[in-house]
Amino acid sequence: MAGEGELSKAIGWGLIGASTIAREWMVEAIRAQPGNDVVAVMSADPDRARTFAAECRIAASYSNLQALLADPKVRAVYVSTTNELHRPQVLAAAAAGKHVLCEKPLALDVAAAREMVAACAAAGVVMATNHHLRNAATHRKIHELVAAGAIGRPLFARVFHAVYLPAHLQGWRLNRPGAGAGVVLDITVHDADTLRFVLSAEPIEATGMAQHAGMAEAGLEDGVMALLRFDNGVLAQLHDAFTVAHAGTGLEVHGSEGSIIARNVMTQRPVGEVTLRNADGETAFALEHENLYVRGVRAFVQAVAGEGQPAATGEDGVRSLATALAVLEASKSGRAAKVRYQ
Ligand code: NDP
Repeated sequence: MAGEGELSKAIGWGLIGASTIAREWMVEAIRAQPGNDVVAVMSADPDRARTFAAECRIAASYSNLQALLADPKVRAVYVSTTNELHRPQVLAAAAAGKHVLCEKPLALDVAAAREMVAACAAAGVVMATNHHLRNAATHRKIHELVAAGAIGRPLFARVFHAVYLPAHLQGWRLNRPGAGAGVVLDITVHDADTLRFVLSAEPIEATGMAQHAGMAEAGLEDGVMALLRFDNGVLAQLHDAFTVAHAGTGLEVHGSEGSIIARNVMTQRPVGEVTLRNADGETAFALEHENLYVRGVRAFVQAVAGEGQPAATGEDGVRSLATALAVLEASKSGRAAKVRYQ
């Protein structure tokens, strides 16, 4: 017989949103956890809900949020609708006593994200943000090296996250400002979380310039270069885009005693290399790569069972959003913007 801990880790999940990320990564990541299954899916369109359910072998499909939340088999929800819907859906899930794993950006403004975190806390449910990158073996290694003082005092970081938005995702991200479109809320928000994680520091100020190269609709940015100042003095440079097919991705942290050079690390896939360069030469690290989403869901399931915190909490989601909004503000005003966490 399963013990208490095992029982409390057996979770029936409801998907709020018949999305690409759910289909490509999260259904499998949930099912990789012992005793966990996706038991229901909700889409605004009943046909899409039924088709998604059939294709992913999900027992129940709904086109109404309250119906999914009333399903007694649903103990936790994964929210991966477009960004403007996250707030009302998370508030409803919390009110129904469901644990919540929500996609980034949590919301379109900090007050809404704070409201979501507060509602989950008041309801006594776990809330997590699906920032996958901090689950990567590469970023965990960088975090460990920085924390152990391997590069001395960290001074600068650089993030290379200019990628090409695949054709099948060239929808609302490019033409629906009300859904939180644009590269900053899509990609910069991940950079912000990853840098907070690897540096164990908080962004306090941002500058940036956005580009409109014509992939996104007029008035919406499809590329950005930004600078963040952290509370430990680190300056970080970010380059994010939807429009660049061949740059490759990377993250570097440069300190007083050495540099960490990571390549092919701003990605959903469990790949990438991390090298430490210092006066002794170069050391490349052997990493045990693991599916980032599987690892993230495992931490969530453990948190539901009372064991530790999710990989990225609701508060982490508030902070990455606040940082991305400061970059947007700076890129629009042409002046440095404070990161406002409240
Ligand atoms: P999708 O465009 O695939 O899905 C978003 C919503 O669009 C769905 O909830 C669905 O609405 C609707 N939709 C999906 N397919 C169709 C279609 N063929 N016709 C009409 N409507 C459709 O978005 P993503 O999966 O790319 O992103 C969803 C969320 O996940 C966003 O918040 C995004 O920022 C986040 N994300 C996070 C990633 C990560 O690694 N953490 C990676 C990718 C995205 P309905 O549910 O009503 O059917």
